[in-house]
Amino acid sequence: MLRTPLAAVSMAAGVSGLLLNLFNVRLSLGSVGATLGTHPVTALMIILLSFEILLFRLGKKRPLWRLLLLISGIVILGWNLFLPDQLHALFSNWSAVADSRMGTDTTLLLGALVLSMLLAGKNNGLGGAFAAFAVFALLFSFMEHSFNVYFLETHLALSTLVALIPACFAVLTIYAHHPVMRLFLIGDAIGARTRFLFGASCFLPWFGGLVIYRIVDAPVRAFPVEAAVLSLIICAMTAIVLYSGRMQEKGDSHRRMLERHMAHVAHHDALTGVLNREGTQSHLNFLWRRFVIEQRSVGVILLDIDYFKKINDSYGHDVGDKVLVSLCQQIRPFIRSDDALGRWGGEEFLILVDGAQIAGATAVCQRIREAILEMHAPDGRPFPCGVTASFGVSVLLETDTGVAASLKRADLALYRAKDCGRDQVQFYENDDQGIVAA
Ligand code: GH3
Ligand code: MG
Ligand code: MG
Repeated sequence: MLRTPLAAVSMAAGVSGLLLNLFNVRLSLGSVGATLGTHPVTALMIILLSFEILLFRLGKKRPLWRLLLLISGIVILGWNLFLPDQLHALFSNWSAVADSRMGTDTTLLLGALVLSMLLAGKNNGLGGAFAAFAVFALLFSFMEHSFNVYFLETHLALSTLVALIPACFAVLTIYAHHPVMRLFLIGDAIGARTRFLFGASCFLPWFGGLVIYRIVDAPVRAFPVEAAVLSLIICAMTAIVLYSGRMQEKGDSHRRMLERHMAHVAHHDALTGVLNREGTQSHLNFLWRRFVIEQRSVGVILLDIDYFKKINDSYGHDVGDKVLVSLCQQIRPFIRSDDALGRWGGEEFLILVDGAQIAGATAVCQRIREAILEMHAPDGRPFPCGVTASFGVSVLLETDTGVAASLKRADLALYRAKDCGRDQVQFYENDDQGIVAA
């Protein structure tokens, strides 16, 4: 899990920032008032925040954890807004810059991260928006440092920035399941495109800024609009990247859904919902290939409803259809997940019993035959006519050259069942024994 190491790095950076400040290390970076130390209250908040990230578990009620977050929120806001000036004066030598208040950007950033964590699992949209805000605030601060152009009265100290980057990404991992965040993480072409375009849309404007402020040496503070525009360009480009990625992903998932639906339709019977001939045939082919390699036996059963034409003629096609639907429902409990039931044609069904020898497949047929005798219409009422079925059973044989031979044997056995009076099971074990009544 990425969150723990990120939070640990953030905590370590927070501690280093605090130490730097306590030793009052001032390093001139050639920028306006930039120091390496982190404001002690900020550093403590970063350490507390990293601790809270480490403790974060989605969906778990953690009163203590919430209390910690609430304390962070109150301190972050209270320190700047509600602490009287006299107290600030007391703490004034805490910070390398004279004011003991935290910077506006630091306050907003820490506040956004705390709110984002508090909202996780409750309002993911808003929580994610706060996390996204924190990312852009960091980006903004990063640009300030790299361009040496500062927009606000205060700005993030470099060590604060270093500590908050991993903290921010650690909070983002909480929203990794969000569809927009998933765009960055998915392994397919859309993911790769999103990552590349996001990288490019951040890097190019930033690099443009470097050229303007560092190489062309545009006067500092004279052109703050350019840097603000650069930030806006990055935001806009990122928004476009995410929007187009999301649209593409939506279209893709719609297409995948349609493909799954089409594949289902192509292999299933519309009336009964069981496999159709195509689906049954391809399953039988799969079982045959496996049989050739592993010699795992397969029971092949042909089931045909007796005098179905009479049912149709006497009660109508709609009753006939209901018989077909009920028959499949009646068979289902006798079919395991590895077995298959398919409509082979009109009122003829093929049942493939995985791992069954003749005896096992015949026993399954007898149970199904008895169940059909007690069959009811889908509305629970008995059918006006009695419904029976005949069964022909065979198994795949090593001497066969394909699936056709076992189907032929099952068919011959079925004919025999019909000839012998219907409502019965016949099997065709092998050519030496021929057809045998079960
Ligand atoms: P046997 O016992 O010899 O199998 O007699 P049978 O009447 O069941 O066999 P036959 O092949 O003469 O008739 C099959 C009938 O199944 C004819 C056809 O109208 C009917 N049938 C085929 N598909 C459907 C269907 O989807 N719905 C309905 N209601 N009837 C169908
Ligand atoms: Mg029939
Ligand atoms: Mg038939």
